[in-house]
Amino acid sequence: MEYCKYHPESDATYRCADCQVGQCDHCVDESAGSLRCFVCRRELENQGPGESVVPFWRRLDKCFSYPMAKQTLLLIIVASVVSALGASMDGLQSFILLFVVSAVTTKYGFLCLQQTAAGNMTAPDVSDAYSGGVRLIFHIIMIFLGIIFMILAMANALGQTAAIVFSVFWLCCLPAVFINYARFEAIGSAINPVEVVRLVLQLRGAYLLLLLFITIMIASVGTLSQLFDGEDVLSAALQSVVSYYYWIVIFHLMGYLLFQKQRVLGYVSHLESEGDVHNRSEKQHTLARIGVLAKEGMFTELSSEFKTALKKYPDDIGIYDRYVDYLCALHKTAELDKFWLAYLSCLEKCGRMSQVSGVLLRILNVAPDYLPVSAEVRFKLAGILLKQGKPALSVKLINRLHRDHPRFEQLSEAYFLMADALEELPEKQVQADKCRILANKLKVRPLAT
Ligand SMILES: [Zn+2]
Ligand SMILES: [Zn+2]
Repeated sequence: MEYCKYHPESDATYRCADCQVGQCDHCVDESAGSLRCFVCRRELENQGPGESVVPFWRRLDKCFSYPMAKQTLLLIIVASVVSALGASMDGLQSFILLFVVSAVTTKYGFLCLQQTAAGNMTAPDVSDAYSGGVRLIFHIIMIFLGIIFMILAMANALGQTAAIVFSVFWLCCLPAVFINYARFEAIGSAINPVEVVRLVLQLRGAYLLLLLFITIMIASVGTLSQLFDGEDVLSAALQSVVSYYYWIVIFHLMGYLLFQKQRVLGYVSHLESEGDVHNRSEKQHTLARIGVLAKEGMFTELSSEFKTALKKYPDDIGIYDRYVDYLCALHKTAELDKFWLAYLSCLEKCGRMSQVSGVLLRILNVAPDYLPVSAEVRFKLAGILLKQGKPALSVKLINRLHRDHPRFEQLSEAYFLMADALEELPEKQVQADKCRILANKLKVRPLAT
């Protein structure tokens, strides 16, 4: 079985005879009517429908390192400490703490499931888990009530034995219930026994293995709690760390099962620009081409593709993110100059202004002397950075601005800003005062040379 050169976890559904590589549905150029290679433009050979992707049991190491992202680990630790504290309190406080932790961790679990099913194998952003958790918990309570109601109805109609068998059925199908809930985001489909059985039958052996892994994980948490049977908050927190870690792994495994079996399930993952290659948008096409060019190291073509894409989609933060990655990786930061203002307004629209200092620090990391060419950009960035508590960076941007751009209209404002920034730095009061004097001078003679 050949895999896509650019997505080693996807089957190659096409092959370029010139480049001697396999490509997945995502990595082919459909723009010319027939399917062509993004690299050499030659028409591709169809490899026919591929088999499923690498099954999860052959990448267990990756599944277990999935929660090892910095943010995710932090979430696990904070959730564990808070829930241990919550458990040690009583009354309303305890309830509120435990409820908040459950809402956030459950939401995050479902995000991991959905993102994995969509082909994204890195843990999602934790900040996405802060909202929507309450609704989710409410839905999960409804799901459990629905299941309990069905079991009680069964007990009523067919007696106790039937009810016990039915309970065992639901227990074994619980992961399938969660998977269906994440797929359809509807309570009805999640607890519809027909849908649940259909999913289990479609997943077959893989589902049984998933159940086995979940059982092993739950059993190991049980063993652990016997080892640390102390009643103190610390041992409770340690147990929670392991439980939350497994919690995320389990959701990732459930998501991976969907991803692995997406063809059997008729489920199309939304990996970056997914779907039928013939139906994808121009933007998805551009993103696919950018992906291939970057992985092929075809930088001249990549650079012009980025510039075209940014002009066409000035509001797409994802393209900017990739562009900045690319510029930093190739030490081509000067290229960003033409895009700074559009980039800043895009960050603002997306509510991601907090990213600005990180982006600038990354650029300075590869090009320590970097300064944007435009005076307007320098002034604007300096203002943002001062607000974000980075006065030193702010000073660096304004410093010498009156020499570099003597005709810049907002010079005086810029130096007042620099004075404010200097005041926030230790032992810079003298410079701040000098800077303020310069700013006042510039105010009187706005076009001083
Ligand atoms: Zn691919
Ligand atoms: Zn080719």
